[in-house]
Amino acid sequence: MRRDRWLTSAACRGLPTSMFFPERWQNASAHETAKKICDTCRVKGECLELALREIRSEEDRWGVFGGLTPHERWMERRRREREANG
Ligand code: SF4
Repeated sequence: MRRDRWLTSAACRGLPTSMFFPERWQNASAHETAKKICDTCRVKGECLELALREIRSEEDRWGVFGGLTPHERWMERRRREREANG
């Protein structure tokens, strides 16, 4: 599925971007709000794979993608690396 096509099914479509990019001073509940929306999203898997594949580590300090925070994406990358390396 082309990226722009699946984005039309995104649960975050039309919502304020700021909901998915909480400011540093906001607490974890700001991330939880975004994550709850992601949990209802039909394209959560596509979104997460895109984030893991295409967002470079230096850019990956912000935002909730595919239901995961930056730290959770870092852990997922590490988990996959360990799995791939046996
Ligand atoms: S998983 Fe979350 S951030 Fe990704 S498209 Fe769906 S609602 Fe948006």
